Amino acid sequence: MSSTIQMVDLKGQYNRLKPEIDLAIQEVLDGCIFINGPQVKDFSDRLSTYMGGCFVIPCANGTDALQIALMALELNDGDEVLLPSFTYAATAEVIALLKLKPVMVDVDPTSFNTGRAQYEAYITDKTRVIVPVHLFGQASQMDEIMELAKERDLFVVEDNAQAIGADYYHQDGSTSKVGTIGHIGCTSFFPSKNLGCYGDGGAVFTKDETRAHKIYMMANHGQAKKYHHEVIGCNSRLDTLQAAILNVKLRYLDDFAARRRSVADHYDKALAEIVGLRTPFRVSYSNHVFHQYTLQVSDGRRDGLMTYLKEKGIPSMIYYPIPLYKQKAYAHYVEPGFSQPETERLCTDVVSLPIHTEMEQDTQDYIIHEVKAFFNC
Ligand SMILES: *Cc1c(COP(=O)(O)O)cnc(C)c1O
Repeated sequence: MSSTIQMVDLKGQYNRLKPEIDLAIQEVLDGCIFINGPQVKDFSDRLSTYMGGCFVIPCANGTDALQIALMALELNDGDEVLLPSFTYAATAEVIALLKLKPVMVDVDPTSFNTGRAQYEAYITDKTRVIVPVHLFGQASQMDEIMELAKERDLFVVEDNAQAIGADYYHQDGSTSKVGTIGHIGCTSFFPSKNLGCYGDGGAVFTKDETRAHKIYMMANHGQAKKYHHEVIGCNSRLDTLQAAILNVKLRYLDDFAARRRSVADHYDKALAEIVGLRTPFRVSYSNHVFHQYTLQVSDGRRDGLMTYLKEKGIPSMIYYPIPLYKQKAYAHYVEPGFSQPETERLCTDVVSLPIHTEMEQDTQDYIIHEVKAFFNC
C-alpha cells in the first residue's frame, strides 16, 4: 500500500504515462510554437471526433468556457439564468460577471443533479438560459431539460466540467456524449478533472456552425480574421503544451473512466448495506464516469466519519459544503432566509472518498475497512 493516500493520484498517473507525455512535451519545446501550435488543432480535431463530431473551441479554463458560451448567446443585462444551488461557484460567477441574474435551483432528491421539475418552478418571463451541471460524473436528465427548453424557448448550456467522456442514452434509443446535447457545452481540463492537463485548460462544444464561429470569436478578441475585431471578446486560449499533454491523455480517457468505475463498483458493493450511509445513485439515462465518489451520511455523522478517516490517514472532501445562495458573494440574489431543502441536506450529508485512475486494491480495501469500522460493521 502506498504510504500516503490521496484523493487524486496525479503523480502515479504521470509516472505510468511518462514516456508518451515527456515526448509530447519535448516536441512542443523543439517546435517553439507555444500559442496556437499544431497540437492545439490536432487536439480539437481529435476531441471533436471523440465527442461525436461537434465543433470544439479550446480555451483557457472551464470557467472561461462558461463565460464565452454565455457571451455568444447575446443576452441582455438582467436576463435570468437557471443553475443548480449545489455546484461549484464558477457556474454562478460567470453569470453574475456578465450582468445576468443567477437563479439558483434546488436539486433532485434522487441524484445530485437538477432536472426539469426543479428548473420549471423557477422559470419567469425573464429566463433565457438553463445551465445544467453534470455533477460528479453523471448527466442531468437532458432529454427532459431540452424538452422544457424547447417549450419555453430557452438556451441550454451544459456545464460538463465533471462528466467528460460520459454517455447519454436518449429516450429514442440513440446515444450522445454528455456535453453535446445542449445548445452549447463546456468543459474544464483542470489537472484533477477526468481529462486533466498540467495547468489550466478548457473547451466549448456546439453542433451549430454559426454558433461555433461566434464562440471562436468570443475567445479570440472578437476576431475571426487577425486585426479585424467584429465584437468585444476576450483572450482565452489553450496553450500548445497543454494541448500536447491532452492529446496523449485523450487516448486514455475511456480507460480512465473504466478504472474510476471499477473503483466505484468496489465501493458500492462493500458499502451499500451500511445503515446511515447512502452510496451514489446511478441514473438509467447516463453512465457514470465518477469524477467524484460521493456518499451521503445521515444523522449528522458525516463530520465524525471524516475526522475518523483522517486519523487513519484517509483523506475525504466535502463537495460542496455551502449552498451557493448562502455564499456571501451570491446571497444578495435571494431573499433573506431563503432555503432549499435538498441542497441544504446534501451540504450537511455529502462526503467524497478517494477515487482516481491509479487506485490500488489494498489501498481501497483499507479505506473500505475503516469506513465500515466507523459504522461498527
Ligand atoms: C472545475 C469546474 C469548473 C471550472 O473549471 P476551471 O477549469 O477550474 O475554471 C466549472 N464548473 C464545475 C462544475 C467544475 O467542476
